[in-house]
Amino acid sequence: MNIHRQLSQIVTTTREYIEEQVQLGFFDMDEETKNTEIPQDIFQNNHLKPEESLYLDLDLDNLKMEALDCHKCQLDQSRIHVVFGTGNQKADLMFVGEAPGAEEDRTGKPFVGRAGQLLTKIIQSTGLTRDDVYIANVLKCRPPGNRNPKSNEIEQCEPYLLRQIDLIEPKVICALGTFAAQILLRTDERISKLRGNFYNYHGTKVMPTYHPAYLLRNPENKRQVWEDIQKVMAELRLPTPN
Ligand code: SF4
Repeated sequence: MNIHRQLSQIVTTTREYIEEQVQLGFFDMDEETKNTEIPQDIFQNNHLKPEESLYLDLDLDNLKMEALDCHKCQLDQSRIHVVFGTGNQKADLMFVGEAPGAEEDRTGKPFVGRAGQLLTKIIQSTGLTRDDVYIANVLKCRPPGNRNPKSNEIEQCEPYLLRQIDLIEPKVICALGTFAAQILLRTDERISKLRGNFYNYHGTKVMPTYHPAYLLRNPENKRQVWEDIQKVMAELRLPTPN
């Protein structure tokens, strides 16, 4: 192998490693302070209502086709895949995160990689599987370098999520992390204050809890996530697994 090819491989491997670390939060701001990074003008915007969705005439499959070919914001320039969402199209429980990371961008699937594996364990702790629930993000394309989404990207992309929720009709949405919770609830309140209580998103109950990537850095908070998940299970009348 020539030296240029070797160097190129080293750069690629190093970049992927750093991107994974950023995705896991090792180089990121603490989730407690991350709210200062959310575009503040988004809080002044009123929520779109489901009946105002651009995509009222689309079912989930057609909505996905629309998203896969979306060029409504500049994230179309840097993405590899649009990560629409996966799971049971009639799930009672839906998980919503922030945006795809490097691994999700590469595979086109939400919540893969280490944080995704932890989410899978969280789901299994309820007695359900990933196939029983639906998993999506607020943004369908990865912001370069996992930077925080911009307000115009949120405004352009949120109608996809709104229509997803309208079609899936989950009984409970679990908002994973500061960003998803603050965007869904249009609040700049910290995740530590939001978590553990149900809120309303167009008639659907929302339980904010810590993002799995945050838990990888702060395993002492797992107990609080388990408490939040138990409230979700009680709401869904799921039996406690043995
Ligand atoms: S982030 Fe959303 S609005 Fe922007 S290009 Fe991707 S799918 Fe379209």
